Amino acid sequence: MSEAEIGLIGLGTMGSNLALNIAEKGHKVAVWNRTASRMKSFVGNAGDLAENIVACDTLEDLMQAIRPPRPVILMVPAGDPVDQQIDALRPLAGMGDIIIDGGNANFHDTERRVKELEESGIVLVGMGVSGGEDGARNGPSIMVGSDKAAWQRIETIVTDIAAKYEGEPCAAWLGPGGAGHLVKTIHNGIEYADMQMIAEVYGILRDGPGLGAEEISSIFTRWNDGRLNSYLIEITAEVLATADPDSSVPLVDVIQDKAGQKGTGRWSVIEAAMLGVPATCIEAAVAARSLSSLKREREYASRRYPQAPRQQSVSTGDLVAELEGALLAGKIAAYAQGFAIMRAASDKYGWDLPMATIARIWRAGCIIRSQLLDSIAKAYDAKPKTANLMVAPSFVDILLPAHLALRVTAGRAALQGLPAPALSAALAYFDSYRQARGTANLIQGQRDFFGAHGFEKIGSRGQKHGPWAERTGKNKV
Ligand code: NDP
Repeated sequence: MSEAEIGLIGLGTMGSNLALNIAEKGHKVAVWNRTASRMKSFVGNAGDLAENIVACDTLEDLMQAIRPPRPVILMVPAGDPVDQQIDALRPLAGMGDIIIDGGNANFHDTERRVKELEESGIVLVGMGVSGGEDGARNGPSIMVGSDKAAWQRIETIVTDIAAKYEGEPCAAWLGPGGAGHLVKTIHNGIEYADMQMIAEVYGILRDGPGLGAEEISSIFTRWNDGRLNSYLIEITAEVLATADPDSSVPLVDVIQDKAGQKGTGRWSVIEAAMLGVPATCIEAAVAARSLSSLKREREYASRRYPQAPRQQSVSTGDLVAELEGALLAGKIAAYAQGFAIMRAASDKYGWDLPMATIARIWRAGCIIRSQLLDSIAKAYDAKPKTANLMVAPSFVDILLPAHLALRVTAGRAALQGLPAPALSAALAYFDSYRQARGTANLIQGQRDFFGAHGFEKIGSRGQKHGPWAERTGKNKV
């Protein structure tokens, strides 16, 4: 009866497609779904692939159908459903069995679950999967955190179903415990920033020179053939070129400007803050989604303030060239922040995350796949301990001209009252990061003045206090 190589629970959007992908690669997969009707229709629609699918009526049947040590993928919503499924599997699983959480878990939950299962000998693998429905079916990018033995058990299946970039699988073991889920979270944080910057450029073109969706679509199509080549630019061009089937106007013009969010962007920001890493582009993107949902307040406020003058002092051709450079520079800043968060998490949790490998497995299959990731992988190959991507030699070469375009774009957007929070954050990050002498000396003076927090004085050692201490009587210099 133990004929399947792997099990899968949760035949929703991601689970059903991953199961078909596994079956198509020649691996027998046992499946179970909470709602039986969904499983029946899944198997009914599997066609020839059904011969590699073992449909199980109960969790007991599922566990019996898998060859030990038994790996079981959970593709259920993150949070309580994962804990519920683990609780249901715990009495049925034994020493060495492997529960793989393939959802978008918070990596702290993954770390907790690893520990909770340790005593029973059941291994928990935290597996981040990116690529949406199409990726799950045809090859996602897969980020794995686990113990090494569990990885060896599942490596063949995972690399078989992953996307391939020039023949290389976009899947890798990245570290123990929550490493894979942290990397997936930061992937999504970068995705938020990337999408927001693209939306800001769209807004500048729409509300500055007043270009229509189709014209903007052609610009994105052109950009996709150049340095900005990426999945997100490609689908942006397609979304902008799509007409509303009901009215024939561009679909994007009849979509409400209120963006949803599920949590991974916010988690990236929280994690960055907890680690003390600036992630201003990602923060701006998350905040922009929150602001977008305040539709009625925005409408009210728009009637209270006159619009800033929007006359164009630049030709559309020059504006487009400038925006291309700005988007590239902004994107580099966002990636620099994402990789800096991963570096700090890696140091804190002792993971030794392989940055070049992460960039490599994001080159295909995932939502942020782009040409830039190949350059990022090469930069980390050349110097694995690069402090920040913005100082990697190949990125200095790109940013030297591109930051000027970002500067002009952010400045023009500000003067015209066109919001560009993520691009502006990228510029401020760049300027702050490359400033040898900043302004925190004054902050330290203020802190010492009101709170006796002390400061380091240039050219001398140890903590000092200012002479204001004599006036307040709190400190001595
Ligand atoms: P869906 O909502 O499409 O499917 C959810 C599945 O989980 C269904 O099979 C559902 O079963 C099952 N389920 C829900 N609650 C429970 C529960 N309490 N106990 C057992 N089974 C349950 O979700 P997705 O496939 O989109 O997402 C699955 C995971 O993958 C999530 O963590 C998501 O964040 C992540 N993810 C999603 C991506 C996407 O593009 N959709 C991309 C990358 C990751 P039933 O039929 O009974 O309702």
